[in-house]
Amino acid sequence: MSIKDNLLRIRQALPAGVSLLAVSKFHPAEAILQAYEAGQRRFGESRPQELKEKYAALPKDIEWVMIGHLQTNKIKYIAPFVSLIESLDSERLAVAINEQALKCGRTIDCLVELHVTCEQTKSGWAWEDVKAFTQSGGFQRLKNIRVRGVMGMATFTEDEAVIRADFERLRAYKAELAEYFDESFDTLSMGMSDDYPIALEYGTTEVRIGSTIFGQREY
Ligand SMILES: *Cc1c(COP(=O)(O)O)cnc(C)c1O
Repeated sequence: MSIKDNLLRIRQALPAGVSLLAVSKFHPAEAILQAYEAGQRRFGESRPQELKEKYAALPKDIEWVMIGHLQTNKIKYIAPFVSLIESLDSERLAVAINEQALKCGRTIDCLVELHVTCEQTKSGWAWEDVKAFTQSGGFQRLKNIRVRGVMGMATFTEDEAVIRADFERLRAYKAELAEYFDESFDTLSMGMSDDYPIALEYGTTEVRIGSTIFGQREY
């Protein structure tokens, strides 16, 4: 199957209103161009330098989305052009993104990445911490970031009940946080190649799909 066929097949499976983020990390510019030629415009990357290089090499109407863990000293590589940062996982990072966005004269859209699994290895902001930060007006003080919703990953497991519980938690947390923002807080990003059909049942508004479009990654 070609990248184009894969994209068409996934698009057909997505209800209206669910956006597709093509996760192109570790895949070359040529693969991204094939997806671009099939009409895809939103691409997700996990490393700032790689994102910057691809931005420079590829068509300028692509919307680049950061989905990987972001170190504060690397924000500067992507701040001038990134369309969305989905991996906002700490107060410290929020403050640093706000600072870089201000320098660029921009407001950067972000999703709060929530940690909902029991796996220590998975990244994400702990619910109690982000809730306290939000309730204390923390985000209101950061004028150059706009929080658009939440992102999360389900546990890596064959046990579908566990995956469902994770997606349900993400859905509920998103609804709870929405009370503190305006109507632009509209995104629930969850579901990857292996679990996106389940995420659709829990109201995801964006699925992030890599290997089902581009094939296995070579690290
Ligand atoms: C790599 C990655 C994906 C895509 O994973 P696939 O299993 O290849 O679809 C989605 N979300 C995040 C946060 C990722 O790091």
